[in-house]
Amino acid sequence: MSRGVDLHLHSTCSDGVLAPTALVELLAASAVGVFALTDHDTIAGQAEAHAAAARHGLTCLTGIELSARWLGRTVHIVGLGIDPSSGCIETAIARRRELRQGRARAIAARLDRAGAPGGEAFARLAAHETPTRTHFARALVELGAAADVPAAFQRWLGRGKPAHVAAEWPELAATVADIVAAGGAAVLAHPLRYTLSAGQRRTLASEFRAAGGAALEVVTGGAAPHQVETALGLALRAGLEGSVGSDCHDPALPWHRPGRLAKLPEAVVPVWKRWELATLRSLEA
Ligand code: AMP
Ligand code: MN
Ligand code: MN
Ligand code: MN
Repeated sequence: MSRGVDLHLHSTCSDGVLAPTALVELLAASAVGVFALTDHDTIAGQAEAHAAAARHGLTCLTGIELSARWLGRTVHIVGLGIDPSSGCIETAIARRRELRQGRARAIAARLDRAGAPGGEAFARLAAHETPTRTHFARALVELGAAADVPAAFQRWLGRGKPAHVAAEWPELAATVADIVAAGGAAVLAHPLRYTLSAGQRRTLASEFRAAGGAALEVVTGGAAPHQVETALGLALRAGLEGSVGSDCHDPALPWHRPGRLAKLPEAVVPVWKRWELATLRSLEA
């Protein structure tokens, strides 16, 4: 696998701006050879992503980014190489769809109460198959209630803001177990983005490992070199493999553009090695 690797990407099936086919076209043009579409709590884009990957000669791993809870906070677990027909994954998705739709109705109601314009638009979002806060943020920008998406979180949707609704996601250990039961590798996404102390972060990584987690996202979109070093240290200390993912939602945001990621440091075992080996074995058989 000499071409680039990007194992964390979003499409319009969750809160990305490109449909799976357009995303794969961008990856092909960006010299990415191995990728996973990892939409929040849905695998709705997988068939389209795999079909487009086949047309462009790219290797596509079936992926998802599951929302989970640890120490009362939201953490994100990427599942790679999962069997999409696994009952565990179906249940994990159904549970989160229910949570997301319920939370979206609550967010819509709070926005209305807080005097944000566009009640009808919010009601429509709440009925979305996999509504995310990003959908609300974009609607608020379109309605002129925020200058851009980060500002919409700052003003309305973030923690402590008028339309913030906490989500009771399933626990981390159960989430990892579901991914493992579906034959996948669990990756702790963007480990430095959670509001945790350094000690808590180390505990998170070791508990994630103890629960059956495989890897930590050592290289993530927008990370500075010293952050990659910190994430590398966390992975090595916890005995985790390393992953690489841009977490691209919108290729117009340059720091998340696929194909521009730093290389995974050689000190850590790449999580994608297992699929490389499986491919080699199947060629030998
Ligand atoms: P949700 O899973 O519905 O809570 O939405 C979380 C998503 O919102 C994340 O995956 C990001 O894409 C986006 N997001 C969260 N916080 C911010 C922020 N401060 N600025 C921009 N996007 C954000
Ligand atoms: Mn997102
Ligand atoms: Mn995430
Ligand atoms: Mn993501």
